[in-house]
Amino acid sequence: MFTIAIHGGAGTITKASMTPEKEQAYLAALTAALRAGKEILTKGGSSLDAVTAAVMSLEDTPLFNAGKGSVFTHEGHHEMDASIMRGDTLDAGAVSGVKHIKNPVVLSRAVMEKSDHVFLYGKGAEVFAAQQGFSFESDEYFYDAFRYAQLQDALESGKMQLDHTENGNKKFGTVGAVALDIHGNIAAATSTGGMTNKRYNRIGDSPVIGAGTYANNNTCAISCTGHGEYFLRAVVAYDISCLMEYKGLSLQEACEKVVNDKLVKFGGEGGLVAVDAKGNICLPFNSEGMYRGFAKDDEEMVAIYG
Ligand code: ASP
Repeated sequence: MFTIAIHGGAGTITKASMTPEKEQAYLAALTAALRAGKEILTKGGSSLDAVTAAVMSLEDTPLFNAGKGSVFTHEGHHEMDASIMRGDTLDAGAVSGVKHIKNPVVLSRAVMEKSDHVFLYGKGAEVFAAQQGFSFESDEYFYDAFRYAQLQDALESGKMQLDHTENGNKKFGTVGAVALDIHGNIAAATSTGGMTNKRYNRIGDSPVIGAGTYANNNTCAISCTGHGEYFLRAVVAYDISCLMEYKGLSLQEACEKVVNDKLVKFGGEGGLVAVDAKGNICLPFNSEGMYRGFAKDDEEMVAIYG
């Protein structure tokens, strides 16, 4: 048995704010990412390879706020964050504030596999990337007219904004994946451009192991999306793992408790994708919608709205 679940961000995503063409484009991009991961799992590949492939696919489309589609910072750049973790060894890797890297998730994996460290940021992470033979993309690669317009709006309002729709509705476009392979191992990965108009090298939950990403074969694999400041303070991913480990809650119960009870009371909008080593899948969110999908053996589903 294998499972994989992905997300492309949560937030105020309603049918009314969508055109049929856009909806089709999002569903197609989610399906492509799901299949990229599924293909690896079907052939007996690892959950680590599957989450890497799925997140890379989401990073390569401008539709989501990660990789190519990353939002603009206050200064008009892109600072990307990513992390990855494997549930069998608890090895993890993360990068934050990196520029010009096509697939930050691959760099976070290189940190995990090729360095003695877990978390590298900014210039240092880029030096490491160069040493590892990563190629650097130009500013044009990351330029997107819609994202640039979002920055102009945000600059006008003077506020840092979560990735949003044309109507100014809140939407979090971070991407992530979790998977269980046929060998019984789970893994998680998350990648984001963060928030439009972010300053001061702001970092959210996505690259923080335990907050935005976590994987442990004994409990669960989690990738989060939402208002990073809240997800950091609520240590969301590890909290779910702890509820399973110390309180014996099921994946479903632990996700419910954290996303639809604790986070709601706390004011943290968003959601996550979760799997455990028994084959359970959970895709909870407390916002109006979440770009999401899962595959379990022959079963496959992608969805957007609540
Ligand atoms: N969690 C991300 C952050 O705060 C945003 C998102 O999920 O879109 O950087």
